[in-house]
Amino acid sequence: MASFYDFALVCQSLGQTSSRLQIAQLAGDFLARLEIGEAAIAARFMVGRPLPQTQEKRLQVSGRAIWRVVAELVPDHSESGEEIFAAAVDFGEAIEVLLRLRATDPPPRLTLGEVAQDLVEVAGIEGPHSRRRKFELLRALFARASALEGKYLAKILIREMRHGMSEGLMLEAIARMAGRPVSEIRRAHMLDTDLGQIVSQFHPGRAGAEPVAPTTGELAGTSTDAAQGVPVQTDPASLASYTLPSSRPKPIRPMLAAPAASVTAAFAILGESLALEYKLDGARVQIHCAPSGVHIFSRRMNDISPSLPEVAEMMAPLRERRPIFDGEVIAVGMRGEALAFQELMRRFGRVRGIEQVRAEQPIRLFVFDLLGVDGDLLIDTAYRERYQRLAELATRAGLELAPRIIPDSVEQAHEFYSRAIGAGYEGLMAKALSSLYTPGARGRGWLKIKNARTLDLVIVAADWGYGRRHGWLSNYHLAVRDPATGQFVMVGKTFKGLTDADFEEMTRRLQAIKVAERAGTVFVRPEIVVEVAYSDIQRSPRYAVGMALRFARILHIRTDKPAEEADTVDTLAAEFERQLVKPLDSRP
Ligand code: AMP
Repeated sequence: MASFYDFALVCQSLGQTSSRLQIAQLAGDFLARLEIGEAAIAARFMVGRPLPQTQEKRLQVSGRAIWRVVAELVPDHSESGEEIFAAAVDFGEAIEVLLRLRATDPPPRLTLGEVAQDLVEVAGIEGPHSRRRKFELLRALFARASALEGKYLAKILIREMRHGMSEGLMLEAIARMAGRPVSEIRRAHMLDTDLGQIVSQFHPGRAGAEPVAPTTGELAGTSTDAAQGVPVQTDPASLASYTLPSSRPKPIRPMLAAPAASVTAAFAILGESLALEYKLDGARVQIHCAPSGVHIFSRRMNDISPSLPEVAEMMAPLRERRPIFDGEVIAVGMRGEALAFQELMRRFGRVRGIEQVRAEQPIRLFVFDLLGVDGDLLIDTAYRERYQRLAELATRAGLELAPRIIPDSVEQAHEFYSRAIGAGYEGLMAKALSSLYTPGARGRGWLKIKNARTLDLVIVAADWGYGRRHGWLSNYHLAVRDPATGQFVMVGKTFKGLTDADFEEMTRRLQAIKVAERAGTVFVRPEIVVEVAYSDIQRSPRYAVGMALRFARILHIRTDKPAEEADTVDTLAAEFERQLVKPLDSRP
């Protein structure tokens, strides 16, 4: 059985190298040495996922709670928690320092399986005294951990590993573990986002291992390996030729769009063969019609079917064709007019009293892509053809399509853009007619052309308010993602844009993900994404990234978007460049 200590040692080595290649090699070699189940756990832990993705419960343990758990294990000491924290490079190291104050460091005894099991148990605690029961379970776990193990346990719990191992790099590590091309692993990951599952599929220790093709585990033509309970696919041909499952479907990672500065820029990037669609300001949904029923997944791939019963009803005429739609749901007023994103969020994730909210807050569905039909997966089919088949199905079932044109000229495209903005839409999506559906990738196939200057940023800290905002965490530190390091870097602060009710809700949510507090500022795990409007981007020596947003204002809390999909340093830099280039006709 693999020890958690060995895992911690490998993580420590990962933290000491900045070479992506070495990180992937170290991690891949380690995973290959473990048994399959342990490798699946280690892969998750390394990217800071304490629970399997199939687990619906959350841990709900804040950094503050972890600190209290550990502090109880340590006898009185002269250093204050604040001092330890200030001297440490991160939360995990602070926990390690604290644990080293114990009289003796327990010998490493924990196994990977044991830790994983305990964390699942912590997440499952509900009902009366759940906080105390979680506390006790965690205390027992930390009590058995050596200081180094405690460091990585804390990092996993707060989901901030800080050793440069991103999910993308983990796929490279898995490729090394399996001795397979990384493209094959990425492909499998597009269809099954559970890293543990991917590790299990490709692990060299699989019974009768040899070539394992990427599979969702549910594609027809797969058989189940009884020993592992893992599906085996012996033909590694293109997935496009596979047929889709008849059992419960799994979501496909939604394709993402890269930003384009203007309609003209979109033509320059995609060429002339493109379609333009209105960019609807709602929430992404992926709808799978299967014999087991209609399954609706959110952008974050949660099953939200019970919240949107009307979508399932709309699918009734198409059920036997088993389509998979990609689309956007918007909240509408009584006359069918589009309402703000917040109104829509009242419907998402809601399961109780659904009939009443359904009447109070109607929605409209717009479909814009077709990812599968009649058991065939269409992600390797060009958008031109996918759209044709989409339009046929939509017409049959009376589904609405996002307004769209294939422009004959750039002028016509500009006109369509003005019409979209005039009608109050966010902008346009430009889609290359020949593009394939690239799950989870921000490829060059789709571009978003937005009118407003907005960025999706992550809240990394917040200041306690004063005066009217006393008692609320109300000044938010905003950051962009640096894809090279996986870290978040600050670009500004704002207290503008939220209502009192939002401040209250935000304060509650931030406290739940707090990792530390210093001088009136609460530092949090980078999890909450907000869409921020700003006037312009300035050069600024104040922030490491060298740029800062001016007049930032929060437009929406993007509960539908994970932090990994927030805007990046590169987008910020591109926006900065863009504003330096003024259109000719605005010059004096
Ligand atoms: P953003 O959230 O700003 O990165 O923009 C991409 C999102 O726009 C997608 O995830 C969809 O939720 C949304 N969207 C709205 N209209 C469309 C459309 N016609 N095609 C594709 N995505 C759309």
